[in-house]
Parts: sequence; C-alpha cells; structure tokens
Amino acid sequence: MLPFGRVAIIGMGLIGSSLARAVRAAMPTVRLTVSDGDALVRERVRALDLADDVTDHAGAAVVDAELVILAVPVGAMAPVAAEIAADLAPGAIVSDVGSVKARVLADLVAALPGVAVIPGHPVAGTEKSGPDAGFASLFADRWCILTPPADADPAQVTQLAAFWSALGARVETMDAAHHDRVLAVTSHLPHLIAYSIVGTASDLEAVTRSEVIKYSAGGFRDFTRIAASDPIMWRDVFLHNREAVLELLGRFTEDLVALQRAIRWGEGETLEALFTRTRAIRRSIIEMGQDDARPDFGRSHEG
Ligand code: NAP
Repeated sequence: MLPFGRVAIIGMGLIGSSLARAVRAAMPTVRLTVSDGDALVRERVRALDLADDVTDHAGAAVVDAELVILAVPVGAMAPVAAEIAADLAPGAIVSDVGSVKARVLADLVAALPGVAVIPGHPVAGTEKSGPDAGFASLFADRWCILTPPADADPAQVTQLAAFWSALGARVETMDAAHHDRVLAVTSHLPHLIAYSIVGTASDLEAVTRSEVIKYSAGGFRDFTRIAASDPIMWRDVFLHNREAVLELLGRFTEDLVALQRAIRWGEGETLEALFTRTRAIRRSIIEMGQDDARPDFGRSHEG
C-alpha cells in the first residue's frame, strides 16, 4: 500500500525535482502535482515529464494533495505556506525539505493553524541548482531527518517516514532544535569555512587569482566545490540557524587559535595528535557508507 496517493511538491529546484523523479521511479501510480514560479523551470519540468500536473501557483497545486512538500529556500517557507493555506485539503500533511528545522517548524505552524505540519530534511544534495541538476537516486541510502512537533499524530509521522523509506532514504526522527545543532556541525559550519577560505584565497595579493586556480590541489579544490553551493539557499540557512551557528563558530575560532599557537611554538605533537584523531573520524564516515573511500572521493585526477 502506498503511503500517499496524491502528492504536491512546491519548488522544482535540485531537491524538488529529485523528489519528483524519485516519486515517479518508486511510486509510479502516485498522482504528482508540482508548482514553480519560473516559466522556464515549468517548461523544463514538462519536457522532462517530472509530474502529472505543473502549475505556476502553489495554491492550485495543493488542492487535493494528501502530502504537500515545500522544496523552497528556508526563508521562503513562511510566504509559500501562507500562499497554500486556504487551498489545502482537509487532513493534508504539510512537510518540507529545508536545511534548518526549528525556524521552519515555527513558521509553518504559525502560517498553517490546525494543519498537520511534519518538517523533514533529506541530508542529501549537491552544489548544483535547478530542475536539470536533480536525479532520482539522490536520497538512496541517505538520511532523512523528520522533526515533528510534540503534538504530531504518531500515525502521520509513520506515514511520512514510510514515504521517505520508499524513496530509499533511511529515516530518523529528532527534535528540531537538536537537528539544527547537529547540522550546524556537520554541514553549516563547513560551508561557512569553505565560503570564507575561497573568498580569502581570491582576495590574496601575493598569490595571483590565476595561480590559485591553476595550482588548486585536492584541499582547496574540495572547498571550491562546497563554496559553489546556491547563494540564496545558504544565505537563508545562516540567517535561520543563527544561534547554533554562532555558538559553534565561537568554539571553532578558539580551536583555530589553539592551532595557530601550536604552529607558532613548534608544538608538533599537538598537531599530530589532532590530525590522528580526525583521520579516525574520516574512517568512521566511510565505514558508515556516507562517503567513498577512493582517493579524492573517486573523482578523476585531471592534471
Ligand atoms: P534550488 O535548486 O535553488 O531550487 C530552489 C527552488 O525554490 C526553486 O524552485 C525556486 O523557484 C524556489 N524559490 C526560490 N525562492 C523562492 C521564493 N521566494 N518563493 C517561492 N519559491 C522560491 O534549491 P534546492 O537545492 O532545491 O533547495 C531547496 C530546499 O532544499 C532548501 O530549503 C534547502 O535548504 C533544502 N536542501 C538543499 C540541499 C542541497 O544540497 N541543495 C540538501 C538538502 C536540503 P524558481 O524556479 O522560481 O526560482
């Protein structure tokens, strides 16, 4: 039995279009309605046959949906929720895929009184954007974290979990604030560091910009991939997970200063001890199947 027969997805970017592809592949009989504000995107969605119906208005997409998933930047969740509020079918579940959860939960509950809101976050993505960047297997063997409010109906949480499991994801449930602290460590701070380091390198005067690009070895090149992520999405992540990111950034800055001191005073054992500890973390990530053990993440070495 399918968890839902009629699903609506609002926003057909990387995540929304991957979700549409995954639903088409795993649950071909689901009636899928999607909406996007951009006419060119709607044209691509039709050409790629990603949905049964494509509309320009979010309200029109949700009228008879049993599950509505908002796949827009975190800062756009509240206005989009307000746009669909009057059109939601009785009993519909509203969820999302946003990378921040406490603010999104609060925004959705405020905009949709009396509606079953169960936020979610598939911890899967790439640095690309738009409907052509999506692919059906994006969520396979990746975590999807659901952050239901305390008063959520457990049967509806199970139903949403079954939906994500059918797409190949591994589902975990946690409190929204806890999610935001965990993701601040595993995703948000690393992105901030990447944005910062790539910005610094491009500002250097002693090393030309063309040298930075020409001699970019593994380390810097990996940062540039992360720093190529969508500017709007990441602007919203930092503005909406402010407290957790700032707290962690304070801690990180202290640790960085400690490393600076170890380098200055030639404390090799301090550096070696840290680098040994971090290597073990990398090994555990590979053992858990969350990355590839091949050198350079399996990418071919060009030059
Ligand atoms: P994306 O490819 O840039 O797509 C963004 C989508 O949101 C587009 O459909 C866009 O519509 C729509 N949108 C943008 N601003 C809007 C607004 N003000 N009102 C209504 N719709 C708006 O981004 P994405 O990577 O799919 O990200 C979507 C969500 O997934 C975000 O909340 C993000 O935090 C979350 N997420 C992303 C990743 C990742 O790695 N990328 C991973 C997990 C979760 P137009 O076509 O009209 O521009």
